[in-house]
Amino acid sequence: MVAISASIIASTSSGCSGHGSVILHLGFSTTVTLRTHTNTMFIFLRFLSAALQLTCSWSSLLSVAVCCRHDWTQMQPCKFSQVFFFCLRISMEDQNDWHPEEIPGVREALKNNDIAAAVARIQQVLERENNIPLNIAITGETGSGKSTFVNALRGLSNGDEGAAPAGVVETTSEVTPYPHPNYPNVTLWDLPGIGSTKFSADEYLMLVGFEKFDFFIIISDTRFRENDVKLAQEIQRMKKKFYFVRSKIDNDINAEKRNRDFNKEETLTKIRDDCVHRLRDLGVESPQVFLVSSFELHLYDFSLLHKTLERDLPKNKRDALLRAMPNISLEIINKKKKTFKHRLYWLAAQSALGAAVPVPGLSIAVDAALLVGVVTDYVFAFGLDVPSLKRLSDRTGVPYADLQAVIFSPLAAAEITKELLLKVIVQLGSVATLIAAEEVSRFIPFIGIPIAMGLSSITTYNILNLILDKLADDAQKLFEMTLNLKIKDE
Ligand code: GDP
Repeated sequence: MVAISASIIASTSSGCSGHGSVILHLGFSTTVTLRTHTNTMFIFLRFLSAALQLTCSWSSLLSVAVCCRHDWTQMQPCKFSQVFFFCLRISMEDQNDWHPEEIPGVREALKNNDIAAAVARIQQVLERENNIPLNIAITGETGSGKSTFVNALRGLSNGDEGAAPAGVVETTSEVTPYPHPNYPNVTLWDLPGIGSTKFSADEYLMLVGFEKFDFFIIISDTRFRENDVKLAQEIQRMKKKFYFVRSKIDNDINAEKRNRDFNKEETLTKIRDDCVHRLRDLGVESPQVFLVSSFELHLYDFSLLHKTLERDLPKNKRDALLRAMPNISLEIINKKKKTFKHRLYWLAAQSALGAAVPVPGLSIAVDAALLVGVVTDYVFAFGLDVPSLKRLSDRTGVPYADLQAVIFSPLAAAEITKELLLKVIVQLGSVATLIAAEEVSRFIPFIGIPIAMGLSSITTYNILNLILDKLADDAQKLFEMTLNLKIKDE
């Protein structure tokens, strides 16, 4: 038997917690006397020391410090979980936004030492958020551009597989739902124009089942008519929101370009003012009209329409809308990234709690199932899945291989499987050390579990953070590439 006296002195400085200015030097010094037949423990200590030094997040160190200050031999796993919730919260940019213990069921589960139930509750909340239904009604007269708008919002072009049929001779005579190809919880409803139905506005709304819609978009490719206004007033009476969209603005701009004194901004102001005056004359108090081209959502008022919808929708519906939004601006790509970053804390907490439950096999392999779903969501939201990239290639005329050439992440343009993800994860430098350290730490008596929880949450956080940054970068590069081509064409 060999007695090893080991002293680990790990000091770290943190900069990754979201508070860039916070520099925390935490001295963690302990002397551990261990008896072992092999050098396994020595290897472990090296791993642990490396992991502690590598990790930028200070939450695990703080929690270890908190555990060590207490009589940790008396601590129950639920207390460790509470420490982690506390540490995760204080490492957040917006701490007020994150209260896991307030989720019905989580507090009770922790009180009862039922970590598995707490994890399940958090998972339920995340899943529910992913499946919040959002129903958008698009109405307007035949030929006004409803179907084309529905397709554009779903990231499709007219004629794509699954696209709403569009064309001058096509008519929308029925209420037709078009689920978003990647987010079936977001549905766009193509409604017949009220003028083609011979129903009064209230009968029309009853007929189309107005209750299920979160808001209405009333489209016109010319001036708005009396019917549009009657419908808007009835929608308001039913306590729902409506937005006026003046479509096919590219046609107007192209027609006006022929004039010698053409000025784009003046032309847009003229069209907007004309619509607003007309709506006022028909009795709408302070109308707002959005000028849109479904072929060029990145131009004119579409971004403003999105911002207005975001402002009016409740938070969970706002997130559903954002995820489904086509990447028509760098701002939208950044907002998606920010929303996903915010959710990292939930996922890290889920992973930390999961690590507290002794599971056979590698913890990262268990987490991989969770990670596959999350990463697939990132890939869809950034339009980096194969079908979205093929559609982008068709729409822009850029060969698919050229689009692939600007993509760096091995997770873009690929089917996300557990195997692919694990392959990518082990190549993420410091993450591999964290994974190894987490696995070995489980075998330390008393403080092993809290250390494993800390490392697990940091590992999950780091993996997803790195993957998210890379995918968002790819989405930005693709956006810039296709935008530059459009600018050259104009
Ligand atoms: P719906 O009957 O209201 O569903 O209208 P469609 O979406 O079928 O569009 C009627 C025609 O207008 C089609 O030929 C579309 O290609 C065309 N269209 C629709 N939106 C736009 C647009 O934003 N710009 C231009 N230039 N044409 C559009």
